[in-house]
Formats: sequence, C-alpha cells, structure tokens
Amino acid sequence: MMSVYDDNNVFAKILRREIPCQPVYEDEHVLAFPDIAPKAPVHILVIPKGRYVSVVDFGARASTEEITAFWRAVAKLAAERGLPDSGFRTIANTGLNGGQEVPHFHVHILGGRALGPMLAHTA
Ligand code: AMP
Repeated sequence: MMSVYDDNNVFAKILRREIPCQPVYEDEHVLAFPDIAPKAPVHILVIPKGRYVSVVDFGARASTEEITAFWRAVAKLAAERGLPDSGFRTIANTGLNGGQEVPHFHVHILGGRALGPMLAHTA
C-alpha cells in the first residue's frame, strides 16, 4: 500500500510546473487538465494541490475546504461540458489492484461517448 507521498510523481511535477499541462480549471486547492492519453472524447484529470497519495489519504487527511473545492470542481467541469445529460463516469484508481499509475490522488472524468461496462472483465 502506497502511503508515503513521492514528490517526484508526475502530478507533483505538473503542480510545480516542471512538466507542462493545459489547465482547464484551477483554484487555491485544485488543478484540472486533460489526460495525456485520452480514453474518451472528454477525459479530464482533477487533482488536489495537496500531497495526497490516494482517495483514502485524501478522505482521511484533507480539510473540509479542500474536499469541498475538489468535488465542486469535478461537478463544475462535468456540467460545463454537458456530461450530466448524456451520462459520464468518474474513476479514482487506487493502489496495485486499482491500477493506479500516478501516486497522487486524482479523479478521471470520462464522457462524450457510451463507456460500456464498468469493468473490462468480471470476477
Ligand atoms: P491512473 O492509472 O489512475 O494513475 O492514471 C494516471 C493517468 O495519468 C493516465 O491516464 C495517464 O495517461 C495520465 N498522465 C500521465 N502523465 C500525464 C501528463 N504528463 N499529463 C496528463 N496526463 C498524464
């Protein structure tokens, strides 16, 4: 279980502006930008600016203000793109079994087409 935050992860570098991104939303607590390898017509990543490894870490340690800002941004980004009408998906991969590649908490917003079953394979 990844629990110690790695300051060299790619999203930490994006937050330090060492790696470029094209922000689609930013406030005091949150940054959002397009996924570099989009899996749907809309594929946005929303990340907190704080050093949180996972959704568990974020839910346990983030302030009320950070949590509110984060989910308000997710809702705003989805609504701005008209996704609630047609439907869309939010994903937070966590750890090894979740297939988390970047150990900085993030939510994927995916939409713009029918996304198919929730998982590629069933148990
Ligand atoms: P996850 O598997 O949930 O950790 O997803 C990490 C996501 O980050 C993947 O969908 C990658 O395509 C995406 N990603 C990796 N590097 C970058 C980058 N420099 N800019 C934008 N997205 C990235």
